[in-house]
Amino acid sequence: MNLTAAQAIAQGLSRDGGLLTPASFPKLTGEMLKDLCRKDYAGRAAAVMGLYLEEFSETELTDYAAKAYGAGKFEHPDVAPVVPLDAKTDVLELWHGPTCAFKDMALQMLPHLLTASLRKNKEERTACILVATSGDTGKGALEGFKDVDGTRILVFYPQNGVSAMQRLQMTTQEGGNVGVCAVQGNFDDAQSGVKALFSDPALREELNGKGCFFSSANSINWGRVLPQIAYYISAYCDLVNRGRIAMGETINVCVPTGNFGNILAAYYAKNMGLPLGKLVCASNRNNVLTDFITTGIYDRNRPFHATISPSMDILISSNLERLLYALTGQDDAQVKDYMEQLAGVGHYAVAADLLEKLQVHFDAGFCSDEAAKIAIGAVYREKDYLMDPHTAVAYHVLEDYRRRTGDETVTLLVSTASPFKFCDSVLEALGVTQQAEGLAILDQLTQVSGRPTPRPLAGLAGKAVRFTQVVPKEKMRAAVLEMLP
Ligand SMILES: *Cc1c(COP(=O)(O)O)cnc(C)c1O
Repeated sequence: MNLTAAQAIAQGLSRDGGLLTPASFPKLTGEMLKDLCRKDYAGRAAAVMGLYLEEFSETELTDYAAKAYGAGKFEHPDVAPVVPLDAKTDVLELWHGPTCAFKDMALQMLPHLLTASLRKNKEERTACILVATSGDTGKGALEGFKDVDGTRILVFYPQNGVSAMQRLQMTTQEGGNVGVCAVQGNFDDAQSGVKALFSDPALREELNGKGCFFSSANSINWGRVLPQIAYYISAYCDLVNRGRIAMGETINVCVPTGNFGNILAAYYAKNMGLPLGKLVCASNRNNVLTDFITTGIYDRNRPFHATISPSMDILISSNLERLLYALTGQDDAQVKDYMEQLAGVGHYAVAADLLEKLQVHFDAGFCSDEAAKIAIGAVYREKDYLMDPHTAVAYHVLEDYRRRTGDETVTLLVSTASPFKFCDSVLEALGVTQQAEGLAILDQLTQVSGRPTPRPLAGLAGKAVRFTQVVPKEKMRAAVLEMLP
């Protein structure tokens, strides 16, 4: 079924549980790219989104971008700065927003898109936003939606699947329309629980009776993926403006990947015409995507590992469904069949020609916790750059890719979190065994590294814990009903 963009963003997920995706992709001409290079980040984001959102005026989008990415929200004037690392690598830092992880790039924008979509759809009910988080989405969504009129937001996180800093960020969340609840289980349990709630007709009816409807702030919502396309285009412009590459020159990207949302945005940017070469998909020990991209077999029947890069501890990468849709030439039935196999027996294998197409664009690798820590230490000592464990996974995989293929193309290393979100692992990687307790560890990392603690994390000290509820997966439904108005 075809929806308008505003309907797709308001609704989040299609009624049959499938993911919503644009029917066609706008083209980015050389002229447009040159134009974008002259704008600031907010201007670029507004222009790129405007290519997709026909029902939104330029004035509207410019206003939202100014609010989402303006001073006071992001600590860095460039919003998503591109920092040179070495002769062939530049780091795209996506973590200067209010929660210090890349989710802010989209989740500071989504509330504006969503509330505008509600207005355009003449929707009078309250949007009840359900989120499953592996750590960073939850906080990002809570910050984005706190006290936004016409919305309530409820975040489910895996009880033992997030870092201490991530938990504290969520349980101390302020705002009158927010709820946070731990689920006994891992991220996949939380995510499949939320998906089940979405497609529960009786629950939908009950919500409707209370003047509410479900929406999503997870990357299954198209409104999450769209703002992410902008930073790849923006980073390319920055490289051109700095004289690092010539306009039109191809670059590679290497992306620490979990739910496949971030790297999917890179694929979409490439599809639009941005000169991107290989999209290198980096996983931690939960390397289901590495196997898929190298063999064409997706198999989630494997042990789940809790790693030092928890935001990538995922075995069911939702957004892969969108990639399959694109690569099969929008073959709905085929994609549905793969997804049904995944939901049923837990694995599927794509046809050989599909795998070939996939490998034209993507390469993949994975990285152990040990290797990630070694990378953090080595890059700090040798290049004076401090990486978080997720970025370190990508760094290791990129080195590996270069060794394996000899491909020396200039590469954007996508950095998804501030190292201060994962102080314990980062300090350990730097050889510090005696670690400070609680939030004092932030000061310790500042002392050891000479880098300032990001303001939003420093500000956690002294905040009261508001949310302590823990439920088994079967009780998620009841938890939702409890938090409705
Ligand atoms: C969410 C997240 C990822 C994974 O991104 P996907 O879009 O889910 O692939 C990687 N690193 C960090 C720090 C994250 O928060």
